[in-house]
Amino acid sequence: MTQNANPSTPTAQAAHLSGEAALNFPLGTTLPELGNAIEVAPGVLWIRMALPFALDHINLWLLADTEETPSGQRQGWTAVDCGVTNPGTQEAWRQVFAGPMKGLPILRVVVTHMHPDHMGLAHWLCEQFNAPLFMNATEYQAALLASTGASNFGGLSTQKFFADHGWNDPADQKQIQSRVSYYANMVPKVPESYHRLLEGSQIQIGDNIWECISGWGHSPEHMALYSPSANVLISGDMVLPKISTNVSVYAQEPEANALALFMRSLKKFDGLPADTLILPSHGRPFVGLHTRTAQLLKHHEDRLDEVLEACTERAGSAHDMLKVIFKRPLDFHQTTFAIGESVAHLHALWLDGKMTRTKDPQGVWRFKSNSDSARLTRSEVDALRQKKKAISDFVQKELKGSLGQKMTENNRSN
Ligand SMILES: [Zn+2]
Repeated sequence: MTQNANPSTPTAQAAHLSGEAALNFPLGTTLPELGNAIEVAPGVLWIRMALPFALDHINLWLLADTEETPSGQRQGWTAVDCGVTNPGTQEAWRQVFAGPMKGLPILRVVVTHMHPDHMGLAHWLCEQFNAPLFMNATEYQAALLASTGASNFGGLSTQKFFADHGWNDPADQKQIQSRVSYYANMVPKVPESYHRLLEGSQIQIGDNIWECISGWGHSPEHMALYSPSANVLISGDMVLPKISTNVSVYAQEPEANALALFMRSLKKFDGLPADTLILPSHGRPFVGLHTRTAQLLKHHEDRLDEVLEACTERAGSAHDMLKVIFKRPLDFHQTTFAIGESVAHLHALWLDGKMTRTKDPQGVWRFKSNSDSARLTRSEVDALRQKKKAISDFVQKELKGSLGQKMTENNRSN
């Protein structure tokens, strides 16, 4: 614990800090080298694999595990997430097998969600060790489907979906249409069978019990893993310390309310202890879960306010909103993700009754802020929020007072 003597209380000191400065990184800036591991908690190893994207790495976890066999107990590891399928990642894994894993086998593979950086090598790891896969059913089926080429990330349906949201450039459209095997290249195969993880499922791994916490908005049904005895949350992509999780609407479910689902999912972590060590899929392990979820909620609320304000005078498309939400130039690859996020913000407002959606003569969805909410500026909204909070605090206090009084009266009459 280097930066904050008491990481469990994200109090006034942390409140004025933003981003990573408000969080506590127990390992400082130390990162595991490719093929090596760092023990972040007893029996919990952190390994990092390279990714062929702007986001250039993923964190994977190895949990010390045992298995009962007819000939006695077998020592080994449970791997959480896998890295993409490519020779470099396989080579790095081989170094991990021989080095940090001390030649012990992988007994189980747990995958948090179907995205290629998490799911890619699951088939290979399971085959190498004859190990079973543990995964949520929705995620497993989605991975299976996408690995056959029925992808969320390209093809005719995606091109049409993007065009419906104002991304009409013919050259870009052609490129989107031709991206049909984006997922299958990184996840060429999915294990033929799996063990199903559900919300609240508990898995005994070595000395610890890990409980599944489902989350939506980033992937179909992401599973984070929490162990009370280890005081560790493997947060996957649901809570990241530096970047905000991609929350997108895809062609497959064009009217989804992904952002509302994601924001609701973040609140599920409120009940976890504040000093829980968070193991995210990208970035560094940290303490400060509630500070980070509050930052992420505020980040999205601010973007929602900006989108609402931008569509007050004139209806806007998701493509129009890219500059409002992202404020920086985006290349083609970034735009394929950003446009889905833009739709997610518009849908959250539309499905909350704050915007009206209409199709223009070119067939593009345009969203216009409804007058009541749009008339308020951001500072007015903030003031209103504060006022609402003051009233609710006052009512709570009064209620407590009168209830307390009633109970005393009851006690007296009994
Ligand atoms: Zn993901």
